[in-house]
Amino acid sequence: MKIFKTTKTTKEYLKNNKNETIGFVPTMGALHDGHLSLIKQSKEQNDITIVSIFVNPTQFLDGEDIDKYPHKPQADEKICEIAKVDVLFVPNEKKIYFDQETKLFAPSIKAYILEGYDRPGHFDGVLQVVNKLLNIVKPTFVYFGKKDAQQLYLVKNMVEEFFLDVSVVACETIREANGLAKSSRNTYLSKEDTLKALQISKALNIAIKYVQKGEYDAATIKTKISKQLKNLYIYYVEIVDKNFNYIDKIEINNTIVLVAVNINNTRLIDNIWL
Ligand code: AMP
Repeated sequence: MKIFKTTKTTKEYLKNNKNETIGFVPTMGALHDGHLSLIKQSKEQNDITIVSIFVNPTQFLDGEDIDKYPHKPQADEKICEIAKVDVLFVPNEKKIYFDQETKLFAPSIKAYILEGYDRPGHFDGVLQVVNKLLNIVKPTFVYFGKKDAQQLYLVKNMVEEFFLDVSVVACETIREANGLAKSSRNTYLSKEDTLKALQISKALNIAIKYVQKGEYDAATIKTKISKQLKNLYIYYVEIVDKNFNYIDKIEINNTIVLVAVNINNTRLIDNIWL
């Protein structure tokens, strides 16, 4: 596995692999089975797979402690090696950002609801860095998790609007056996917190059961979910279509049910696609 720390070395290496398809998995590290499933998909579909690990400062707001974000460089390197990643790109912040640089602004409505409502400007930073990374790697396919549904939607849109030459692949959410969606942030949770966090997937499963029974009213489903989460601090329980428009009636194959809660100062998000 090649490990590159600069955009220059990465670009040079990739230039020499011109004729091959490149699969790209951008991450912020502290890798887990969710990331691994993206890597596996990329390995299956491409000649070479490149993983980036970059804890992107511009997607953290003032007051959000980027320094506390889990940092496990040695374990991450081992995981990538075992997964037979071809290139691990771990750029330094100074190699990615410039002083007084051109800014990218995420669309004002879709990026300022849900995650963007509580974290205004978060998606500007996400798109800024994803745009840069896509321009450095120039992948054939880029892999994003459905777990971060709003991010996936906004990246897909940016790719279309900026006429970027890459296909965005949406990957299923990987969960613990108990249903908890895998997340780097789960390392913050104590045993007690984890028990509380199990309510999230339980609540989403309850929603699935109601829909299977024929309950399509979004308000009713949201109430059922909120009831299940009653002991947690809820940021939002919302139901949108795949273009992130709020909807009143669930439309099968065009609905995402999203939840965000706070457990002991850790923000956890999860969703189901119906
Ligand atoms: P992160 O390192 O949290 O920025 O995540 C990097 C990529 O992995 C993003 O596209 C996430 O959506 C995806 N991801 C994170 N957790 C999961 C999961 N549990 N299942 C599938 N993909 C995930």
